Amino acid sequence: MANQPCTCVADFNMKLREHNTLIVETIGIPRDGSPTFTRPTIRTQKIESRKRLGPAIAMPTFCPFCGNAYEAQPSQPAIAEAPQYLIWSNEHRCWWAPNQRGYTQSIDRAGRYTRDEAIGIAGTARGGWEVASNPSEIAIPEADAIDQAGHCGRLQAYADRLAARQEGGAA
Ligand SMILES: [Zn+2]
Repeated sequence: MANQPCTCVADFNMKLREHNTLIVETIGIPRDGSPTFTRPTIRTQKIESRKRLGPAIAMPTFCPFCGNAYEAQPSQPAIAEAPQYLIWSNEHRCWWAPNQRGYTQSIDRAGRYTRDEAIGIAGTARGGWEVASNPSEIAIPEADAIDQAGHCGRLQAYADRLAARQEGGAA
């Protein structure tokens, strides 16, 4: 496989096989379209389990068996989760709550949806968008919503969380 400079994992798996054991691997999907690759999995876990964010994926840049660098330059780590979206309801003047169950005024408690979900909901709820009238529901990327809300100076915690995500995502 491309981007796989050594066969250590495969070799070890051969030895582990008789012990009914297999090394857990993580599949990387580079965002620049270069070939997918696998790396021995580094286990990660959330620090604060109540937070929606995390855990991020940690990808090794060197083979833990032979010590060879996987790549001259570490690629962008694969992103475990796609960008998340919020849905604003003009009708209710609230955010959609998680799982399409109710509404909330708190951006913190708003539901997080995939882009497809959010646009599907916003584009079809209450008849969808109509020309020359305010859209009933609007899908907006979580990060954009938080940046805009942040200008009111009310959601510093969110900015911190975003920064933590960026740091965590680059691990
Ligand atoms: Zn190796």
